[in-house]
Amino acid sequence: MASLITCPHCGVRPKEEFSIRGDAGPLRPQPEAKFAAWDAYVHLRGNVRGVMDEHWQHVGGCRRWLVVRRDTLSHDVHDVTDAAEFARAAKPLKRSKPASRAGKPAKGRAQS
Ligand SMILES: [Zn+2]
Repeated sequence: MASLITCPHCGVRPKEEFSIRGDAGPLRPQPEAKFAAWDAYVHLRGNVRGVMDEHWQHVGGCRRWLVVRRDTLSHDVHDVTDAAEFARAAKPLKRSKPASRAGKPAKGRAQS
């Protein structure tokens, strides 16, 4: 059976109409935040086994960004919220922070 996502604007739609961007947990830092906060916001994303919030765009429908709370093991969808509404509520799922990449060389760069 096909996976279905309930878009808050369009109703129940097949998952093939959506594009996934990934972890919706990180919140945008204030403009005056330190470099480390911006680095973490731009580059560090969680990829948990279990329930997590993810950004999905309904590219085959209303084109709105959504936050889908989904179990990455069972693919069960627990909740779908418009991303703007999710950001206003600012209540991301509680979970551990992603591991720091400090000290590791960047992938894709030539080592000298
Ligand atoms: Zn939609």
